[in-house]
Amino acid sequence: MASWPPVAADLARLRETLAWVARRSSYWARRFESAGVDPARLASYEEFRTRVPRLDKAELVANQRAHPPFGELLAAPREEIASLHTSPGPIYVPRLAEERGGTAVLAAAIRAMGVGRGEVAHVTLSYHVMPGGLRLHRAFEEAGCLVINGGTGASRLQVQVAHDYGATVWAGTPSFLANLRDTAREMGLRLPYRVGFSTAEALTPALRRDLETSLGIELFDHCGEAQIGPLAGECRMHDGMHLHTADLLCELLDVETGEPVGPGGTGELVATQLGPHALPLVRYAPRDVFRLLPGACACGDPAPRLVFVGQAGAIRKIKGVLVHPAQVHAVVSGFPELGRFQIVVDHPPGARYERALLRAGTVRPPADAAALARELGARLKATVLVGMDVELVPESAIPEAAGAPRFAEAMVDRRAKA
Ligand SMILES: [Zn+2]
Repeated sequence: MASWPPVAADLARLRETLAWVARRSSYWARRFESAGVDPARLASYEEFRTRVPRLDKAELVANQRAHPPFGELLAAPREEIASLHTSPGPIYVPRLAEERGGTAVLAAAIRAMGVGRGEVAHVTLSYHVMPGGLRLHRAFEEAGCLVINGGTGASRLQVQVAHDYGATVWAGTPSFLANLRDTAREMGLRLPYRVGFSTAEALTPALRRDLETSLGIELFDHCGEAQIGPLAGECRMHDGMHLHTADLLCELLDVETGEPVGPGGTGELVATQLGPHALPLVRYAPRDVFRLLPGACACGDPAPRLVFVGQAGAIRKIKGVLVHPAQVHAVVSGFPELGRFQIVVDHPPGARYERALLRAGTVRPPADAAALARELGARLKATVLVGMDVELVPESAIPEAAGAPRFAEAMVDRRAKA
């Protein structure tokens, strides 16, 4: 994988990739030219970092809308495209036949869990439209496993299949694993899983303990990003997630200064895809913030280890207190009636103080709505240290992008900008 900070070999590969990209994509040719960067002559990582601007998701979406369907980032003629994925936005993500599409990275992450030939893997991520389920399915096949294409939903059938095939490995979101466990209980069946690949949702310590003890399973937390694909996963030490990135240059940069972050520091991920890609991303910044763990891992894998902190854009100062939606999520998830939520911050003209409203989405009608709202307000005040009004709404009224683990739309800031 590419090192952090980058070394000479990484820079050589970066130069080669950028030159390829500039030849094939009108967007990137223009962008490098206006930044005064000649990709073939890029002298240092510093030059790359300080000159080439970041690409954010909004820019990518806008460019695809203006030049449908793939936008000007496209770097391959249609006949070279092997498959089409869609990620939230929606963003259309074409893939070249030669692109590894994240499976090499996933296969490494699967081996780090101690999973290999002879295991039966049950994949319960969605196989529809988004790339997640299919990608993980291919990776488990590559790792030598027998793979069950479970997908989401149809819990009773999934429990039956996992039981009858003797699935030893489970993969999916922790909330769906909890659903399968409860369903198996109702059916009087035991799920035979030995290890689990948890992804696409926060695996909180409480949730991990609950699932591990009730199922007798060892869970491994993993994370990825919609456009970039899989990023990092836990090894058997369960002390942070190793960055398993064969074809990515990952920068970790201070949120305020943009300077590279060292061991122990917290920084925003900026990723550049290395090698040929149909829709090449250069300095793509999804606004995910990670902490870089110091020291070497006891497992012997030298790949850097990360802990996901949250979305850079989601952190807000409310009534003088820094609040991350993940903290609010920890409180809200203690109420089984509640799902996604949004925090609306406002400072009405003439009002003396800011106002914070928690719009909590209900997944089922609460027995006593007023009592639930009161209790939620009190727990928020006690743990997040900010008083919030609480409004209960059906979960469908809260955008899906507000949900864990990214909370991209969980904060609605209506305060006038100074
Ligand atoms: Zn390790």
